Amino acid sequence: MQKNNVSSFDFHSPVESLDFQLFNDKGLTLHIKRDDQIHPFISGNKWRKLKYILQSARAAGKMHLVTFGGAWSNHLLATACAGAKFGFKTTGFVRGESVSNPNLSLCKLFGMELQFVDRTSYRNKPALFEHYAQGDEQAYFVDEGGYSTEGTIGCSEIIDELATAYDHIFCACGTGTTLAGLYRGCMEAGLHTHLHGIPVLAGGDFIREAIAKLYTGKEPANITLHTEYHFGGYAKTTPALNTFIKHFCAETGILIEPVYTGKLLYGVFDLAKHDYFKPKDRILVVHTGGLMGILGKLNDFGV
Ligand SMILES: *Cc1c(COP(=O)(O)O)cnc(C)c1O
Repeated sequence: MQKNNVSSFDFHSPVESLDFQLFNDKGLTLHIKRDDQIHPFISGNKWRKLKYILQSARAAGKMHLVTFGGAWSNHLLATACAGAKFGFKTTGFVRGESVSNPNLSLCKLFGMELQFVDRTSYRNKPALFEHYAQGDEQAYFVDEGGYSTEGTIGCSEIIDELATAYDHIFCACGTGTTLAGLYRGCMEAGLHTHLHGIPVLAGGDFIREAIAKLYTGKEPANITLHTEYHFGGYAKTTPALNTFIKHFCAETGILIEPVYTGKLLYGVFDLAKHDYFKPKDRILVVHTGGLMGILGKLNDFGV
């Protein structure tokens, strides 16, 4: 079978307006870029990040993607599915003891070979890769979460796809690649949009440095990190966050989840409530997808 060319998969996600009293009352408009609609499994920003990674791998003649993630990693699933679609073999190193869950089962269905590694060994990913790739000339290192400069190029295309300008653009941050890409897109387009990141891990200030490493080498101006919306840390949630998510989903028909996009939207609503924005401000949030993760959390919602 002739596998699809990576660059031929080109889906411009739509922007939708959201109608909430809170924003209307303050004269604000709220919009959402539906990157969750790019693909059910090669979801959102994970596709944006993989797009140029896959092209680099193929150009180098490396047809075996070796990557890393936790058991619920959206990146592992996206890599497994993209590998199947575009003709790459895939191996995923999974952090921690051997477990099974729907996310990993889907990875296996898409042909990914899984290797569970203890948390200490997992920390040194280049060493894991070197050891594993001995004797496999096809092996290509793809960092956890798609953290990479190629990833910033893919994510900068979010900006290229926008038909109008916004005063503020928000995204959730894990590695910071998506936010670095938005920054790159704005710089290249000469836009002065105020960019905002909501780190989903505690101590999210590290994102600033991660962005500098990925793009220009300098600490970015024009970016604000709102580090107080992590809800206790990565994949942690609270009843208040769950209530907000339930309300948002029921109000809009747009699914969000507690690991990334729930924290993002909670943060934007909380900032609006506290008059962070000026009347007439146009706000865009990027729905970065990653909806499989909610399958592990459904019990928290009492539904
Ligand atoms: C992986 C992921 C992120 C984090 O993106 P970074 O580029 O690593 O900051 C945000 N949202 C969703 C839904 C994700 O799956």
